[in-house]
Amino acid sequence: MLGLGIESTAHTFSCAIIEKKGKKGKILSDIRKIYRPAEGEGIHPREASRHHIENSSSVLSECLIEANTTIKDLDLISYAAGPGLGPCLRVGAVVARSLASFYKIPIYPVNHAIGHIDLGKLLTGATNPLVLLVSGGHTMLLAFLNKQWRVFGETLDITLGQLLDQFGRSIGFASPCGKSIEELASTSSNYIMLPYSVKGNDVSFSGLLSATKSVVKQSKVDACYSLQETAFAMISEVVERALSFTCKKELMIVGGVAANKRLSEMLQAVCKRHRCKFFTVPIQYAGDCGSQICWTGLLESQVKQGALLKDTLVIQSWRLDSVKVDY
Ligand code: AMP
Ligand code: MG
Repeated sequence: MLGLGIESTAHTFSCAIIEKKGKKGKILSDIRKIYRPAEGEGIHPREASRHHIENSSSVLSECLIEANTTIKDLDLISYAAGPGLGPCLRVGAVVARSLASFYKIPIYPVNHAIGHIDLGKLLTGATNPLVLLVSGGHTMLLAFLNKQWRVFGETLDITLGQLLDQFGRSIGFASPCGKSIEELASTSSNYIMLPYSVKGNDVSFSGLLSATKSVVKQSKVDACYSLQETAFAMISEVVERALSFTCKKELMIVGGVAANKRLSEMLQAVCKRHRCKFFTVPIQYAGDCGSQICWTGLLESQVKQGALLKDTLVIQSWRLDSVKVDY
């Protein structure tokens, strides 16, 4: 089976082609163009969607060329139908729908967050993990039970990615800022006390964001270091509690923030205490990409027919725990 996956939920427009043989998947191409707002500014949905429209045809043709294939060879097309920014989501949906209807190829609307998890499992080999999904759009701790991902804990306000990006922008970095903050943080070991807010299995980051902005004048590097240490310790606490409670023997971290080495280091220490295997998605596939959407589309095609065109809309706030996973 040959699938094309289209991602356009937020900053990234990406197309990827995966060949599926049995349970194995081989990524033949994964091309991305990322919308970069001006320094200090966040994503402007209309500007991002314009970026996606302008880049969609070149990303698609580069993706087909790199995979050495043509649209007619595709067995299915999947696109990220949500959650995400409406104007951005609609670009991917329109491209997918146009190709599917013109070439008569089955089409699969895919939940973006489930795409992160499914590709993570394919690339790491984790089989039944506790999942930590940390990205621009999500901060969730998940376990799979009875055909659904169940939310064990999540953020009560902003996500971990938003915390890093909003703080980074306030000190003049261009979004996304996680990597720049990680680099600055690695040059300090001076901890400034910041608010730590874990509520049950949930976390809250907005107070931490305001407090970190107010300590920047003491030292930018110490602020970055202290922000990471505090936020990652909060995440580690809820992960540790979830491991005790669920007795899972695997932890898998996915989403753009999974690229952070300090976060991995702290979670590895938690896993060691619980004799649990630690998996992190390869950095190249941590952030949003077409491969995530493509692989979930291919998995869904094992148990479902393609969608009717009238059902290929977008759902901006589509929670992953509302999706039945039958494959
Ligand atoms: P996604 O929404 O999955 O594409 O992830 C994007 C988020 O990942 C943004 O908030 C980035 O700031 C964050 N990110 C990317 N690289 C890193 C890193 N090395 N450390 C922390 N956060 C990161
Ligand atoms: Mg994402």
